[in-house]
Amino acid sequence: MLKFAPSIHRLGTESAFEVLARANKLSAQGRDIINLGIGQPDFRTPEHIVEAGIQALRDGAHGYTPANGLPALREAVAADLEARHGAPVNPDNVVVVPGGKPTMFFAVLMFGEPGAEIMYPNPGFPIYESVIRYSGATPVPIALSEESGFAFDAEAVLAQITPNTRLIILNSPANPTGGVTPKAEIDKLVKGLEAHPDVAILSDEIYSRMLYGGRSHVSLLQYPEIRDRLIVLDGWSKTYAMTGWRLGYAVWPDAMVDHAIRLCINDHSCVNAATQYAGIAALTGPQDAVEAMVAEFDQRRAFIVQALNDLPGVRCADPAGAFYAFPNISETGLGAREAQDRFLNEAGVATIAGTSFGAWGEGYLRFSYANSLENIEKAIERIRACL
Ligand code: PLP
Repeated sequence: MLKFAPSIHRLGTESAFEVLARANKLSAQGRDIINLGIGQPDFRTPEHIVEAGIQALRDGAHGYTPANGLPALREAVAADLEARHGAPVNPDNVVVVPGGKPTMFFAVLMFGEPGAEIMYPNPGFPIYESVIRYSGATPVPIALSEESGFAFDAEAVLAQITPNTRLIILNSPANPTGGVTPKAEIDKLVKGLEAHPDVAILSDEIYSRMLYGGRSHVSLLQYPEIRDRLIVLDGWSKTYAMTGWRLGYAVWPDAMVDHAIRLCINDHSCVNAATQYAGIAALTGPQDAVEAMVAEFDQRRAFIVQALNDLPGVRCADPAGAFYAFPNISETGLGAREAQDRFLNEAGVATIAGTSFGAWGEGYLRFSYANSLENIEKAIERIRACL
């Protein structure tokens, strides 16, 4: 009888991967499946970025790099952040990792232990709650509601802080809701956090280039008063359609950066070298492909929100960022999981149950609009027939 460490049974998962596997299985059986489940752009990585990766392999970038990433890449990240957010970033505080996920894992491992409390958005990216539980810490949900556009309420967050709170995870623009927290609310939170100098903050800003309706991103990097305890996560996966390359980064404060690098050395040594060169090309090259992709998402967003609102029993708030719509389906009489399963099995449309993003997601379904307008239209018609 194998004796597993109890922590392994506390790990959750990301249902998007399970739904993808089921959708692929149905496709392999000959079913016509439209995938609005997985959260990745349906665009190719821009060609000049692909070429930079290939060129790096040809030029012999075959060995280890520094654990925290190539200096030129960390400099490019710092310059990009300064240009986008107007906040100074020292390249020595940048740690490059394989995607967005390792940063959240490292941050939670750094602060999570039995007795500690870590706050996280709910509904939110499922890996937050999963790794908090894995660490032994107590997950404390920040409940996000449709009424407030799925933005967090600063007073509610501050009211939940206890002497055991070690870390607060924030995510704007958000997965799965598309919610964007307004600057006034962030101002209020930062002000309130002055009274809690021993609480660290992880701001997941992986959708920072995907905002709509003339909104601009507010980065937590813009608040010097919390920089000594702020981790900002961002990366290439969504912005440059590079989910499969596995490339992300975080800006860590001085007190944490050496721990983060040590976690890299223990975990993966470094990100594969050619991918890092592709990452430099992404940040320093032309940005028109990003702008074109975001403009395309914006068109689909307008379409899907209207189409969902026209379905019987469905109500969809306008998502302000990312590439997800998160309609309320409670008046269809279907639970979130039931709707997900029926739409996949009967209508051939993959979506994700809101409950996959936490208990506060009951009554909601996530639609990723990273698919063609034509497919989105077809998917909605199939769901209408199913309803
Ligand atoms: N953070 C959020 C909010 C996400 O939605 C995702 C991916 O869906 C990630 C992080 C992880 O990104 P990556 O694929 O780069 O690990």
